[in-house]
Amino acid sequence: LIELHGVNKHFGELHVLRDIDLTVGKGEVVVVIGPSGSGKSTLCRAINRLETVESGTIRLDGRPLPEEGRALARLRADVGMVFQSFNLFAHKTVLQNVSLAQIKVRKHAREAADSRSLELLDRVGLAAQAPKYPAQLSGGQQQRVAIARALAMEPKALLFDEPTSALDPEMINEVLEVMRQLARDGMTMVVVTHEMGFARSAANRVVFMDDGRIVEDRPPEEFFTAPRTERAKDFLSKIL
Ligand code: ATP
Ligand code: MG
Repeated sequence: LIELHGVNKHFGELHVLRDIDLTVGKGEVVVVIGPSGSGKSTLCRAINRLETVESGTIRLDGRPLPEEGRALARLRADVGMVFQSFNLFAHKTVLQNVSLAQIKVRKHAREAADSRSLELLDRVGLAAQAPKYPAQLSGGQQQRVAIARALAMEPKALLFDEPTSALDPEMINEVLEVMRQLARDGMTMVVVTHEMGFARSAANRVVFMDDGRIVEDRPPEEFFTAPRTERAKDFLSKIL
């Protein structure tokens, strides 16, 4: 579903993505880990073209990513992204947050959008919060709203960039549980996270990045029990 071949990107002198090859099949869950600055966020952002790349190809469903205009807006809806900061509209209700892009991007009528939003909010355990404003919700609840909003676009894939890093410990699990359920339902997911429990239980593959390269790309049970590279061993010894 998502294919990257020979992707390179610099920020000035800094070579942040080096010859990245990565394939994510339909229904696969790929967890991306690695030290700070290794290029994980840039990789995610490149996949829905929040960043451009200098060389290589990125394909979605066999097609190169669109460059601009409507097609680009559609790509961003097809490949949803959930960030560390929830990025909800503060002056809109939870329901409006989830409905907005359905109306603007997918051109659904408001009633249809709202009814789908309520279903999705129910799915993430937040139907009762629909009329509230984001500031009235906990961080974990806000992040679940952000997930519902991404799902409302009926995405082909979802990218998560450290979705639980800004949360208090007691809220992390409620968000991971929603993500585990999505994985079980067959959603294609790329997840940057430090939650190794999630990686072990939900990932089909773990991708370890270091210094702009993909250094390992293997099933979690292999990666965690027998990392092949010193860099991965060293990284795991620090976080586990
Ligand atoms: P972290 O774990 O800290 O989130 P990361 O693996 O996500 O790190 P990236 O955010 O992809 O790393 O950044 C890779 C490198 O590129 C870092 O050295 C970062 O400082 C740099 N970088 C990221 N975005 C920009 C930008 N817009 N302009 C210049 N440099 C950038
Ligand atoms: Mg990052």
